[in-house]
Amino acid sequence: MKAMVLRGPNTPFELTQVPDPVPGPGEAVARVITCGSGLTIQHAKAGRRKIKFPRIIGHEISGEIVAVGAGVTSLKVGDGVSAYFYLCCGHCRYCLANLEPLCLNSGGQVGMDCDGGYAEYMKLPAHIFIKYPEGLDYKAHPAEMGVITDALATPYKVLRRATVKAGETVAVFGAGGGLGIHQLMMAKWARARVIAVDVAANKFDACRKAGADEVVNPRDGDVVEALRDLTHGAGVDVAIDYVGATATLEAGVKALGRRGRLVILSGASQPFQAPAHAMLQKEQAILGSRYVTRAEVLETCDLVARGEVWPMVTDVRPLQEAEAVHERVEKGEVTGRAALRVA
Ligand SMILES: [Zn+2]
Repeated sequence: MKAMVLRGPNTPFELTQVPDPVPGPGEAVARVITCGSGLTIQHAKAGRRKIKFPRIIGHEISGEIVAVGAGVTSLKVGDGVSAYFYLCCGHCRYCLANLEPLCLNSGGQVGMDCDGGYAEYMKLPAHIFIKYPEGLDYKAHPAEMGVITDALATPYKVLRRATVKAGETVAVFGAGGGLGIHQLMMAKWARARVIAVDVAANKFDACRKAGADEVVNPRDGDVVEALRDLTHGAGVDVAIDYVGATATLEAGVKALGRRGRLVILSGASQPFQAPAHAMLQKEQAILGSRYVTRAEVLETCDLVARGEVWPMVTDVRPLQEAEAVHERVEKGEVTGRAALRVA
């Protein structure tokens, strides 16, 4: 099969012929239709995130099952699937509690610790494939459906992690990024008042379209003051940080009001200081939020199937153009998500 192979950190993709994957017991193989090209996998390509090479990256796939190994009963040939990002075991106490991102026996991540979707075929343990629920037209919109499992479902999970309620004010730091813009969308869906925070002013129109009621550019002045002004001094109910810089985390926690919650998502999060006394006085909380559970992925799929939210995919190109797409991702030029068309 054709695959885009990375031979080392910060090297270009090589379009290579590699053997077709064959499913062993408990495994399945999907023919890949599209695969999302987000910043997480660009971090691996650029060497900022350590993975083993050679590697075929990519996890936000739409595909169809073409072969299943011995003992697989959950999937059959022809099923439309996407993939769960984490290689969870499926049987530890956290997996059994629907908290798969906390799996005790995690094998890592799809496209990082095993080969992923930048190839014609992709092999995974069968339980890592997520069969699309009824009503999702993955054949008509493969790129959009394929990015649900990360770009849209991860922000959906944050709504629950932070118990976002209708009418609350939610500030999203890094709102112009691929996940940030989908977080705006999901927060709006949850009937929150949504404030986008980003230094990329060229993304502000897209932020507003995605659901931001207000936009704040930290380059224009003190972001904490701006968030306090926009809430008449009360502070925001929820600050969601996709940047992970000391400055954004500290601004986020300082901008919280009474019972405010700061949610941390960036894998690169730096240390930061939080005002303990204010946290006590105002009963504030700091929460980590790691990816999303499989149940929440399916719930997010249902929202899309009902047309309540729709993934923002703005640049879909053939697999051969992976390098050009990743250059755009690296420069922050993509609005929402980019994706590669494989088949
Ligand atoms: Zn587990």
